[in-house]
Amino acid sequence: MTATLDGATAPVRMPALYLSHGAPPLADDTRWTRELAAWSADLPKPTAILVVSAHWEEAPLTLGATTTVPLLYDFWGFPEHYYRVRYAAPGAPALAERVRKLLHSPQHPVHQDPHRGLDHGAYVPLVEMYPDADIPTLQISMPTLDPQVLFEVGRTLAPLRDEGVLIIGSGFTTHNLRGLNMGRPADHEPPAWSAEFDNWVREAMAARDFDALIDFEHQGPAAQLAHPRTEHFAPLFVSLGASVDSLRADRSVIDGYWYGLSKRSFQFD
Ligand code: ZN
Repeated sequence: MTATLDGATAPVRMPALYLSHGAPPLADDTRWTRELAAWSADLPKPTAILVVSAHWEEAPLTLGATTTVPLLYDFWGFPEHYYRVRYAAPGAPALAERVRKLLHSPQHPVHQDPHRGLDHGAYVPLVEMYPDADIPTLQISMPTLDPQVLFEVGRTLAPLRDEGVLIIGSGFTTHNLRGLNMGRPADHEPPAWSAEFDNWVREAMAARDFDALIDFEHQGPAAQLAHPRTEHFAPLFVSLGASVDSLRADRSVIDGYWYGLSKRSFQFD
């Protein structure tokens, strides 16, 4: 029997997710918000949530706040109401301790930033998926963008899934802000680089060719256009690593495009 983080009854094993998180205006896209809400409604209720977002790169690997602190409005020039969003989820000190135990070593120390709140890559989807903000939530940094290292981080965190922890990698399946065309409808036809890369990811995932995915910068078509910097694809590898040794099923839960960017999102069971 597995103990929960607080020693109570056996929790349900949770999947790991990789999702495309959108900018703050995601909240105005009723189709996408419905997709995210339907997704979480379909999952067992987690004991805690562990988020790795594209918007926190810090080495060594750092644990965010374990108490409820203000959100990090890490975006600029948006209308005022996006800065008034609140998401006061409880902190997750027990989960933070577990993560530290699993990951910390003299070679790879784990730090903590007690003031670091959830950034928009973390809270924007959580507002839609868990609007009650009643699940203890911890964000951790990406200590590198190296897919192989992040994959190993995920692999080390895999036991948390049996403790009821929902691991979420939050990025974007294609992400080139220069290619973003907000002058057209959100669901307009994607540019070729976005469609080609998205299609390749879908096929590689279906073939479970994780080596190819880890090597996406070389093997993915139009990879440099789809990810001029790779921070939005990098969180995938934590979720994938947390799943790979016991992968029962994987599915693409959300697909389609948002102003030309692929919002494809995966669930790994
Ligand atoms: Zn982002």
